[in-house]
Amino acid sequence: NNEEAIAKVAAASADSGAPTIFDKIIAKEIPSTIVYEDEKVLAFRDINPQAPVHVVVIPKSRDGLTQLGKAEERHGDILGHLLYAAKLVAEKEGIVDGFRVVINNGPAACQSVYHIHLHVLGGRQLKWPPG
Ligand code: C5P
Repeated sequence: NNEEAIAKVAAASADSGAPTIFDKIIAKEIPSTIVYEDEKVLAFRDINPQAPVHVVVIPKSRDGLTQLGKAEERHGDILGHLLYAAKLVAEKEGIVDGFRVVINNGPAACQSVYHIHLHVLGGRQLKWPPG
């Protein structure tokens, strides 16, 4: 039934600690359109954009941060830097006056890649509440 199907999809996308596709993007083994990069973070265009501007910002080292719900105090610096990088991306993309930053945490929020990432969305009027 539908509930079982939903539970299966959620379980399939739960945090296993396994390497993710983002490791290959960081290693440049699979191509991405990079918008911003520094020694700590990488920002690239989402392959399935939900807005005219949709950029994913990730730490180059996952360091246990598969999802925000696993954050520890030691992750404070990288979490802050990810947020700052999101602002730099918004500036570069010309949307700094109106943009949204999203972190999906866990199956109930439709997280699909277990390497923490910020979505930077803009370029159109965004609605509230999100789905
Ligand atoms: O928050 P969530 O885990 O669902 O976000 C993962 C995002 O990574 C998705 O928006 C998906 O389109 C994107 N993605 C990507 N390139 C890949 C794999 C996933 O841009 N190769």
